Amino acid sequence: MPVNYADYRDIDIDAMDAVVVGSGFAGSVVAQQLAERRDMKVLIIEKRPHIGGNMYDEHDEAGILVHRYGPHIFHTNNQRAFHYLRQFSGWLGYQHHVLADLHGEYMPVPFNLNSMDMAFGPEKAERLAAKMIERFGEGARVTLSELRAEEDPELSEVADFVYDNVFLYYTQKQWGQTPDEIDPSVTARVPVLLSRDNRYFQDTYQGMPDKGYTALFEAMLDHPNITVCLNTEAESVFDLEFSGDEEDAPLSAIKLHGKEFTGPIVYTGPLDELFLARFGRLPYRSLDFVYETYDVEHKLPCGTVNYTVSEDYTRITEFKYLTGQSAPNTTIMKEYSRAYEDPDAQIPYYAILSDENRAHYERYRALTDSLPNFHPLGRLAEYRYYNMDWIVALALELADRIIEGEGAAA
Ligand SMILES: Cc1cc2nc3c(=O)[nH]c(=O)nc-3n(C[C@H](O)[C@H](O)[C@H](O)COP(=O)(O)OP(=O)(O)OC[C@H]3O[C@@H](n4cnc5c(N)ncnc54)[C@H](O)[C@@H]3O)c2cc1C
Repeated sequence: MPVNYADYRDIDIDAMDAVVVGSGFAGSVVAQQLAERRDMKVLIIEKRPHIGGNMYDEHDEAGILVHRYGPHIFHTNNQRAFHYLRQFSGWLGYQHHVLADLHGEYMPVPFNLNSMDMAFGPEKAERLAAKMIERFGEGARVTLSELRAEEDPELSEVADFVYDNVFLYYTQKQWGQTPDEIDPSVTARVPVLLSRDNRYFQDTYQGMPDKGYTALFEAMLDHPNITVCLNTEAESVFDLEFSGDEEDAPLSAIKLHGKEFTGPIVYTGPLDELFLARFGRLPYRSLDFVYETYDVEHKLPCGTVNYTVSEDYTRITEFKYLTGQSAPNTTIMKEYSRAYEDPDAQIPYYAILSDENRAHYERYRALTDSLPNFHPLGRLAEYRYYNMDWIVALALELADRIIEGEGAAA
């Protein structure tokens, strides 16, 4: 049976036990769990013309399977998330590799002992590596800020090289910031690996769904209890009621088709959109993607090349490496980071984390705390970055709580 799509106007809301807004991993996992484990009838409201959220992929005009919202590679140490997803797809054992383009020379990232050979020549690199291993241990993952704090001038030289050639320009492009504006926590996360493992991720489970993500979502939502309404915005079908007239008055009920909905409502969109930006828009970075197709088998040496010292795009991805597709031609995608200025034309991709923005978000969040059946979940509703596996794990936990009847306290 395929996914059950319907027009929102035809939905009998009395027949629904739960409403889920958004069909990315956050929404789809909860919907699937409630439908399968508790036989609940679940309505999914999705504003895009397709399911799968940012994981959506499709074949382009040249027949190449491409990701439409940025390259997505699955990697995790979370057994539950991995075993859960295995039910819905076969998996290709793909291991992602990323190279930094330093004016035409390719260097492995994260920066590791192989990168060190290239940066400093084998002789000096050997000495530096021995020093770093003695200090931090073989195989250690040292952060750039830890390295920058070292007093040894040779270790500072390594830190400066990574900062100048791998980190600075890329981060400036990504966040639209000057070096002074970059939050120290961003530098703190940049790793230097004291190993020769050239893989981008070191997680236990890594791979790609063998028929793509959209097919995986179709399998997940192919359930007689799940109905999906595409092209439907929550704010256009939710009728919100508040406990007072003032701006900060909390939410007291959500009506659909004129009736209060008392079952679980899992909301995975941005909270500012739901409340029509009454406290102003939450700041995000957006992205533009430019696709190019070539009549060659491969255009890049690996899945992704980061442009860390040149170009105005941040990175290029060649999908065939990720998806395992073989074809005589190939499609690559250039990624440009942009300010998020127009919610009608742009997608919010990355929450811009700062104390001020967090407080701004919390003001929206406080409006929802009073409604026990309302559950904000996911990268948008929680205004933070999550990898796919974290979201799958959190969605499974929320489904557990709803099923166990603890949803009201969540
Ligand atoms: C460029 C990029 C690359 C990434 N690469 C990776 C990677 O390689 N590996 C990894 O693990 N993670 C990656 N991620 C993170 C991954 O995208 C998230 O973990 C994942 O999207 C979270 O799922 P979600 O359901 O919370 O959000 P989404 O996938 O964004 O789904 C939310 C859904 O809600 C819908 N929606 C929003 N508002 C409304 C509304 N008002 N009404 C109705 N529907 C609405 C949206 O249309 C969307 O379909 C990447 C993220 C980005 C931005």
